Amino acid sequence: MSNVQDVSQSWQNELGISADEEKWDVIWSSIKISICNRARLLQFKILHRLQISPYKRHKMNPQLSPICLKCKILIGTYTHCIWSCPKIQAYWMDALQDMQRIYGVVLQMDPLSLLLGYTNRYVNVGTSSGRLYDILAFTARNNIFLSWISDKPPTKFTWHKIVMECFTSEHLTCLLHSSIGQFMKIWTPYLNFTDLTVALTD
Ligand SMILES: [Zn+2]
Repeated sequence: MSNVQDVSQSWQNELGISADEEKWDVIWSSIKISICNRARLLQFKILHRLQISPYKRHKMNPQLSPICLKCKILIGTYTHCIWSCPKIQAYWMDALQDMQRIYGVVLQMDPLSLLLGYTNRYVNVGTSSGRLYDILAFTARNNIFLSWISDKPPTKFTWHKIVMECFTSEHLTCLLHSSIGQFMKIWTPYLNFTDLTVALTD
């Protein structure tokens, strides 16, 4: 297992960000407060950079190419494949555009919140909007790993499909706990948005 400080440093260097200890405490604790077990596991793997990138694969077997499968030009490091690859940046911008429409505010391409789970300061006005942001960002990350070994980048369309799956399972959970009021508070901005703009088909 990688040392937490080493991992934090790698993220900072590769993303070109600086986060103080307090921020990192929030990021590491985001694993515990994630929306479900699946989300917790994924966030743990991302923060520790456990999924194998082309670059890491190349280091294990030099005969295999270190080049990113999607842009086919740059070295496929972990950060490249999940964030800085031009194809992945286009995907994040696409997703962010929808998130801006959902919230009606301008959001930044901020890897700390989109990728590392740090609470987004623009939407953390109430717990329900923060929760929806967590769900949207988590599902957008999840979508990247569904096409991790594909030469095609993830799409906004498959992202919305995952969000709707999450909606369904959260709905079942809330029925069990009879917390439909809170559930609707979280999801209404998203449902309004999908009604207006996204045609979800099979
Ligand atoms: Zn690339």
